[in-house]
Amino acid sequence: MEAKTLKKGFTIWLTGLSGAGKSTIAQALYEELHNHRGLAVEVWDGDVVRTHLSKGLGFSKEDRDTNIRRIGFVCAKLSQYGVINIAAAISPYREVRDECRSMIGPDRFVEVYVNAPLETAIERDVKGLYAKALSGEIPNFTGISDPYEPPLSPEVEVRTDLETVEESVGKIIAYCESAGLLPAS
Ligand code: ADP
Repeated sequence: MEAKTLKKGFTIWLTGLSGAGKSTIAQALYEELHNHRGLAVEVWDGDVVRTHLSKGLGFSKEDRDTNIRRIGFVCAKLSQYGVINIAAAISPYREVRDECRSMIGPDRFVEVYVNAPLETAIERDVKGLYAKALSGEIPNFTGISDPYEPPLSPEVEVRTDLETVEESVGKIIAYCESAGLLPAS
C-alpha cells in the first residue's frame, strides 16, 4: 500500500521521562495513522536516532541539545512534504523543544507531554536503567541526576499512569483532528 502524504505535514512531539510511555505511544500512533489510515508517517525514536543519526553523542546538555536539534531538523524537512513525523525523545530542555517548534513551524507542531510520575517510571523500569541510575552506575540520568523541564503549555498532556495506551492515543488523535491537522476519522 502506498502511503498518502497530507497537504500539510506536521510533527507530534512526545516529551517525557524515560519509561513514561513515549515509544509505546509512538508505535500505537504509527499503527493507527500508517497501518489503518494509510498515511505517510515517520517515527523518530530517541534510542534509535542515537544509534544512527546521532551516533557518538552522549548525555551532556550540549550533546542532548544537539541530538534534539537533529531530530527537529529532519522533522522540519519532512513536515514540508506532507509527512507526519512522530518524535519520541526525552527532550528534557524546554528551550530546545521551543527551538524545534519554531524550526518546524508552530502551526505544524503538536507538543505532547507524556506524563507519568517519576515513581511510576521507576516502578516500570522498562529498560532497567533507573536501578542503575539510582545506584549511581549511570550518571546524568534524567529525573534522577539530570533535569527534566516539563512543558508549560503543551497542546496535549497524557497521564500514562492513569490512562490506557488507547486513551492516550485517542486524546492525541482527537487534538490533531480538532486542530485541522488530520481529517476526521
Ligand atoms: P519511553 O519510550 O517513554 O521510555 P516506553 O514506551 O518504553 O517509555 O515504556 C512505557 C511503559 O509503560 C510500557 O511498558 C507501556 O506498556 C506502559 N504503559 C502503561 N500505560 C501506558 C500509556 N497510557 N501510555 C503509554 N505507555 C503505557
